Amino acid sequence: MNTQMPLRCGELLSTQLYIDGCWCNSEGGGSLPVVNPSTEEFIAEVQAGDARDVERAVQAAARAFSGWKNTTGAARAAYLRAIARGVEARRESLAALQSLNNGKPLAEAEIDIGDVVATFDYYAELAGQLDETGEAEVVIPSADHRAVIRREPAGVAALIVPWNFPMVTTAWKLAPALASGCTVVLKPSEVTPLPELQLAAIVAEVGLPPGVFNVVTGTGADVGAPLTAHPRVAKVSFTGSTAVGEQVMKTAAETIKGVSLELGGKSSIVVFADADLDLAVDLVAGGAFFNAGQMCSATSRVLVERTIAEALIARLAERATQMVVGDPFSPGVQMGPLTSRAQFERVQRFIERGKADGARLLVGGEVPAGPGYFVKPTIFVDVPTDSAVWREEIFGPVLCVRSFDAEEDAIEAANDTDFGLVATVVTRDAVRGKRVADALAAGVVWINTPQLIFPQTSWGGYKQSSIGRELGPFGLAAFQEIKQVLTVS
Ligand code: NAD
Repeated sequence: MNTQMPLRCGELLSTQLYIDGCWCNSEGGGSLPVVNPSTEEFIAEVQAGDARDVERAVQAAARAFSGWKNTTGAARAAYLRAIARGVEARRESLAALQSLNNGKPLAEAEIDIGDVVATFDYYAELAGQLDETGEAEVVIPSADHRAVIRREPAGVAALIVPWNFPMVTTAWKLAPALASGCTVVLKPSEVTPLPELQLAAIVAEVGLPPGVFNVVTGTGADVGAPLTAHPRVAKVSFTGSTAVGEQVMKTAAETIKGVSLELGGKSSIVVFADADLDLAVDLVAGGAFFNAGQMCSATSRVLVERTIAEALIARLAERATQMVVGDPFSPGVQMGPLTSRAQFERVQRFIERGKADGARLLVGGEVPAGPGYFVKPTIFVDVPTDSAVWREEIFGPVLCVRSFDAEEDAIEAANDTDFGLVATVVTRDAVRGKRVADALAAGVVWINTPQLIFPQTSWGGYKQSSIGRELGPFGLAAFQEIKQVLTVS
């Protein structure tokens, strides 16, 4: 096991807070332990920030705002590109830190790094374009006036992120926030602060003006809540659970600040009888077991057309039992541990509830012997539609399967959820694929493809999964205000 990894990563850098261009200790002087989920061993401790640190960070960001706002898009683009190059240069150590702290297999961690680089490069491009497109004249029915619409940065932005894709969820917020001209205070998850602090060190290195970028580590209660409540914060961009998202929205409402929320999901993969079965098995397994199922976009409900249900279920059972679960640094490992003890216990409670609610446990459910938060890939069939495992986000490697007879029934079942983040459709019939995609109440639909996400597109969902969208021009707009200036001509 790679418990020495922080030392091997050598350059980590700092476990301090980053405020106003300096690494510093928290006012309270406390610390939080960081654990390797594969071994349950303590690997580092980071600063436990609190409201006093939030105050310092927000004031620094507020002081830096007018200067940063008035830089050109081209100048901000240069910083973003420098961050992308910095991440690329430390690709290996960043991936290793992710595997160490989050538990994901190294190959998956490497995919995350590629995503981070692509996101910073993409928003560098958009930042550069702002010099041309940030202000536009509008045609109005008056010869006596001239109307201009401008896009301006919202102000100080609070970025609050979870632990399942550390660095990726951060990049999706940080890159557009900086591109727009916002100054930021980032609050990483207390579960996975190490990769985030490494990313912070890279951002710190590119020489942004002091106060433009600040990081305060700590718990949700001690850092996230005061950050959300702070009157100088203009915008909160939050990714995490629906329960905490609701709390964030309520707190933000007290000062009428803008919120973007990326929350939970309970998404379906619909497999029709004409599907390529090999492809279907790959897509179902990927959608359920990638990142040990700790994905907001997990397609953890399979809806399979009854005529091929038996064949698909047999293939899925075979795939799940053959998956190699273990140390994320071992070559060939396909699934690591869950990221925290709390998540490990939560997933086990769901598995017990599934059994109690009458779902049939086909494979998995057991916990391998030894240390680490490992759970075997688990499949339930004949799952009651009112059971917790069918309706609630589990956030672990637990797949639930039901069959359907008609296309309308599959659509109805897929849409029968409080969430609406993503969906996957597997069929050889392109017309049907489009028809079903049109009918699904989800923010992203993949047809016959794995869960590829390009920064140029969009991310977010319907119903209780999201408010607003990340990525693409939408992700930039989330950090902008719109100003109309009308003058006499
Ligand atoms: P969480 O809601 O427990 O925590 C998320 C972040 O919020 C953490 O940094 C936490 O410290 C902070 N926080 C906690 N209480 C807070 C409060 N009162 N005020 C402000 N901040 C507070 O979520 P998690 O367990 O870290 O992550 C898992 C959840 O994230 C899942 O529900 C998953 O679906 C969701 N998620 C969604 C997306 C998406 O794009 N929709 C992506 C990744 C994860």
